[in-house]
Amino acid sequence: MLRIFSYADEESAFMSHVTRSVSFDAGVQNVVDGILADVAARGDEAVLDYTEKFQGCRPEAFEVSSEEIDTAFAAADPGFRSVLEEAYENIREFHRHEADKSFFYEQGDGVILGQRVTPLERVMLYVPGGKAAYPSSLLMNVAPAKVAGVSEVYVTTPCDAEGKVSEHVLVAAKVAGVDRVFKFGGAQAIAAFAFGTERVPKVDKITGPGNKYVALAKKQVFGHVSIDSIAGPSEVVVIADRTADPEFVVMDMFAQAEHDPDAAAVCITDSVEVAVKVKELAEAMVGKMVRAEVIRQALASNGAVVVTKDMATACEVSNRIAPEHLELHVAEPWSVLPSIRHAGAVFMGSYSCETIGDYFAGPNHTLPTNGTARFFSPLSVRDFVKYTSIISYSAGELRKTGERIAAFADHEGLQAHAEAVRARLRKV
Ligand code: NAD
Repeated sequence: MLRIFSYADEESAFMSHVTRSVSFDAGVQNVVDGILADVAARGDEAVLDYTEKFQGCRPEAFEVSSEEIDTAFAAADPGFRSVLEEAYENIREFHRHEADKSFFYEQGDGVILGQRVTPLERVMLYVPGGKAAYPSSLLMNVAPAKVAGVSEVYVTTPCDAEGKVSEHVLVAAKVAGVDRVFKFGGAQAIAAFAFGTERVPKVDKITGPGNKYVALAKKQVFGHVSIDSIAGPSEVVVIADRTADPEFVVMDMFAQAEHDPDAAAVCITDSVEVAVKVKELAEAMVGKMVRAEVIRQALASNGAVVVTKDMATACEVSNRIAPEHLELHVAEPWSVLPSIRHAGAVFMGSYSCETIGDYFAGPNHTLPTNGTARFFSPLSVRDFVKYTSIISYSAGELRKTGERIAAFADHEGLQAHAEAVRARLRKV
């Protein structure tokens, strides 16, 4: 189930085993293109047809009423409500630290330059709902939008065959103060919010994870709306030195693998002893897990333990993978951190397991996957604002620099650009 590689002897076999594709197969592409075109052409009727096909119902109301949300909240387990509230406050607190500020500065004779930060007006946050419900995804997507000051925050998530939405998601929606909750999913939901239909408002941005149909639909509507990123299946890398507790390593690899047969979990260690223990323990423990079959498939296809000659090489290998989540099960995590260049989130030391970050700590759990941590960042407040440049020039400064600017325009052969400056120069 879990193969041990030697990095020194099997570098290319290991890298090809763990490198993941960011492309979608042609079948998915055709299905998604068809759904997008259909919703663009037929609007609400197409949304209802696909909801009937995939959810098994044709809901009369597109939205969950505020009474239904209040009822779900009142009926929820108080312990669940309070952990959601505490987690949401932690997430908001973290995101408050991220908020960018507008800036202005003076330069020269009466020149003011600046950048104004403005929140987006309307966003839709996709909460997956096919195989499981994800209240944590709701909190993680809504918090940065709210901190940014977005005026209207909508959520959509697929309903069940009775037209009902997960009560856990509704409780989270109440905690986070979501403005409207819609009850459909898949590529048809992405299309409806990207293009707008009679009953679905067009939004400015769509964020949130989803399966391959949702991810590809988001990619295809980019330009009609903004999106956060194209999320692939989840992944974790654990760097373990000889002080690591193999049980912690195995449980954290299982926690990733139980998401999805496509999830990936890799342990990089400079200790052959740790490698062997992790493999043995994983094989001994998997049978006790409720989602044993999913874990076995994920670890067999995308799991590995790799032994490197030292910790420096372990960090190099991790940087090549650029994982979504990186855990440092080492004696001195803060001294290893400077060697880590590419990772969505780093979990420091044996007691900072990914589960804490998934639900509770505060940093966003929507992270770059498939090696895109080389150039993408976690979901943040910056995803929910935009920046406007401000330019204020004075007559005095134009008198000084105007002719040189006009000459610049002459070199581009743009006469009207040059004359727009010279017309003013004639009057100052
Ligand atoms: P989903 O809501 O993403 O997808 C369900 C929808 O997919 C259905 O409503 C249907 O419209 C569409 N669909 C299903 N089969 C289809 C087909 N054959 N053709 C066209 N459309 C089809 O829910 P899911 O399927 O449970 O997937 C959720 C994904 O999100 C999982 O991969 C999970 O790991 C991931 N996830 C990621 C994070 C994260 O932060 N990275 C968090 C939560 C979930």
